[in-house]
Amino acid sequence: MPSEIPLSKPDITDLEIQLVVRALRSGRLSIGPMVEQFENLVALRAQCRHAVAVNSGTSGLHLVLQSLNIGPGDEVITTPFSFIASSNCILFVGATPRFVDICPRSLNMDPAKVQAAVGVKTKAILAVETFGNPTYMDQYANLAARHELPLIEDCCEALGATYKGRPAGHFGRAGVFGFYPNKQITTGEGGMIVTDDERLAAMCRSLRNQGRPLGASTTPTHGGSPTGSWLKHERLGYNYRLPELNAALGVAQMRRLDEITQKRHEVALRYIRRLGGHPALVLPTVDPESVMSWFVFVVRLAPTYTAEERDRIIAGLRRHEIGASDYFPCIHLQPFYRERFGLREGMFPIAESVSNRTIALPFHNDLTEHEIDQVAQTLEMLIKSESISRV
Ligand SMILES: *Cc1c(COP(=O)(O)O)cnc(C)c1O
Repeated sequence: MPSEIPLSKPDITDLEIQLVVRALRSGRLSIGPMVEQFENLVALRAQCRHAVAVNSGTSGLHLVLQSLNIGPGDEVITTPFSFIASSNCILFVGATPRFVDICPRSLNMDPAKVQAAVGVKTKAILAVETFGNPTYMDQYANLAARHELPLIEDCCEALGATYKGRPAGHFGRAGVFGFYPNKQITTGEGGMIVTDDERLAAMCRSLRNQGRPLGASTTPTHGGSPTGSWLKHERLGYNYRLPELNAALGVAQMRRLDEITQKRHEVALRYIRRLGGHPALVLPTVDPESVMSWFVFVVRLAPTYTAEERDRIIAGLRRHEIGASDYFPCIHLQPFYRERFGLREGMFPIAESVSNRTIALPFHNDLTEHEIDQVAQTLEMLIKSESISRV
C-alpha cells in the first residue's frame, strides 16, 4: 500500500535543529539576538531598510494597517481570492474591504479594476502575491503613488519571488511575510514586516511590544527588575513578539532560502511537464517578467467542470492518501463577510469561477518524481471517472 503524500511539509535539516538548540541553551528565550539576525536576513532579501519580526503574518498585517492610521470609515482595496487573513486585518482596525476581481492568469487583482475602485474613502491598496506570483506589483505601486495611497504588500506567500528584477516585499510602503509551516520557509508560527519607512517600522516595533515607547530600549533589564521605559506604555499595543526559538529556526531557514526556492521550482516544473497539455486542466501561468516563488501548486479544472465535481475529485485524492485542497474559497462568500457587508455570488465572477475549480496538489521540497507521477495518475483517473459519470 502506498504511503500518504501530504499536501505540504516543512524542510527541517540539522542546521535548523542546531540553531534552535543553541537558542534554547543560551537562556535567552525572548527579545534577543536571534530575532535581530532573522530581521536582518529578511530585510536584506527584500531589499528593505527595516524588518520587524512578529508572531504571525496576520499580526504583521494588523500592525501595518494600524500604523498607517487606517480605521473606521476607511476603505481598503483588496482581493477576494486569498487566504482570509489578508482581508481580516482590514476588519481588525474597523475599516471596510473593497474587493475587486482578479485577472484569470496571474490570479492577482486586475489593475484596471483597482484603478476603477479608487474613491474618496480609499485609504490603502492591499495587494496579495497569490500563490507566490508577483505579477502586477509595480502597476499597483504606481497606481497607489498616483493617488497618494500606501500600497500594502501581503507577500506572505511570496518570499523569494521577483518581478522585473525587484524582490517581493519591496513594492509596498510595507510588506508582510508569513512563516506558517506550509510556507516557503517556516518558524512554526511567525511573520515579518519589511519597509523603508523608519517611522512605520518604529511604530510597528512599539505596537508588537505592548505599546512601549518608540525608539526606547525594548529590553527589560535581564537579571534585575524591569524599570524605566520597559514599564512605560504610550499606546495600546499587543504582545506580537516572535520568540527566540522561532527566530533561530527562521535564521537557519533563511540561510537555506535559495536552496529551498530552487527545490520548489524543480518540483513545480516536474508537475508542469507531467500535467501540461491535459485537456481538463489549466496549469499555473507565469508571465515572463515574474519569477515565482512557489508556495503551493494549484491546478484548476476547465470551465466546464462544476464545484461539486471538483470537490469529488479532491475527496477522491484524499481517499487515495493524497493531500489536496480547494485553495481558496472566496473571502466575500465567507458567512460573516456576506452578512456584514451584503456580499453574494456573482459579484466577482472571475474569482468565483477560479475558486470553484481549483485543486491544490501535494507540494513540498522533497516530493519525488515517483510521487508526482502517482499524484498525476490518480488525478487523471479521477477526472476521467467524473467525465464518464456525466454521460
Ligand atoms: C499565510 C498567509 C497569511 C498569514 O498567515 P499566518 O498564519 O498568520 O502567518 C496572510 N496572508 C496570506 C495571503 C497568507 O497566505
